[in-house]
Amino acid sequence: MALQLRPNCEYCDRDLPPSSQEARICSYECTFCADCVESKLANVCPNCGGGFVARPIRPGREWRVGVSLERQPASTKRVHLKYSLDDITVHSKRIRDIPPERR
Ligand SMILES: [Zn+2]
Ligand SMILES: [Zn+2]
Repeated sequence: MALQLRPNCEYCDRDLPPSSQEARICSYECTFCADCVESKLANVCPNCGGGFVARPIRPGREWRVGVSLERQPASTKRVHLKYSLDDITVHSKRIRDIPPERR
């Protein structure tokens, strides 16, 4: 199963196409833009509490048989926050000072 390339930032809803270098993901593929990860989330995923890394860019061309963006296309299902902004602020505050590898 391939990584799910989600189409938008869950926080600000900006588009994050598969080639975007601004996309950040947690280990559950929760997807946000770099700006929100830094300025709104303090590198704390609102859904799981984990940290973020840059989302890898799937090759557009089929360099190897059966694997490319064409073969495993990006998701088109937009995802939106399921917690209130107040809730996320509290959640982030209690976790942000613990580095991801010790959460
Ligand atoms: Zn965003
Ligand atoms: Zn997460």
